[in-house]
Amino acid sequence: MKEDTDIDKAISQHIEMESFFSGGTSLRSDKVEQPIDSAKELELIAAEVRACRKCDLGESRTNAVPGQGKANAKIVFVGEAPGADEDAQGLAFVGRAGQLLTKIIEAMDVNRTDVFICNILKCRPPGNRDPKPDEIISCLPYLQRQLELIEPEIIVALGAHAAKTLLNTNSTIGQLRGRFHDYYTSEEAEPINLMPTYHPAYLLRNYSQDNRKKVWDDMQKVMKELGLPIKK
Ligand code: SF4
Repeated sequence: MKEDTDIDKAISQHIEMESFFSGGTSLRSDKVEQPIDSAKELELIAAEVRACRKCDLGESRTNAVPGQGKANAKIVFVGEAPGADEDAQGLAFVGRAGQLLTKIIEAMDVNRTDVFICNILKCRPPGNRDPKPDEIISCLPYLQRQLELIEPEIIVALGAHAAKTLLNTNSTIGQLRGRFHDYYTSEEAEPINLMPTYHPAYLLRNYSQDNRKKVWDDMQKVMKELGLPIKK
């Protein structure tokens, strides 16, 4: 019994010490867990992104593009990086590729405002060059935190960079697309279904019937998984 009391005392002292050093009372043992306000937390991440200078892109960008959409979205679309239009407006997928993405989302009978749309990189690489590995390493924690907060049912990775980064693989987008993969926000978390597909910008450059069908096939699998009616 005395041993239990000693352990309780030690834990209590530890909590008080942590509370003292953290300058607040949030670690008090009688703290009631508050539900996380995802929208507020996402806005805090967005504010961090707008002030971020962790890589060189922070100097060359016009606006950072944290991503936007519903805080409790069932689907999150993740692209590669902002382009010129996105850099000018500070919003993800607002250029031509963004317009095509809107068409794809609406063809799924989903409102664009009901999903969350963002990128692996939050700032535009000059001349739309490919993201560099050190830029991805610096920026990825923002996306990981966004996904952890939103906890979507499905992540759609748009293009090779998004798919390869999120799945930590060197496989090509052609090999990855067309089936669900597991994405984990943490070691303890349940996996989230991740569907890789072609980036709308790639689709615009290669607007063949075959490529459009492949993307639509991928989106139909997403719709089926979410229980949405499948249109032929
Ligand atoms: S790309 Fe990401 S890591 Fe680099 S400055 Fe922008 S927000 Fe920060």
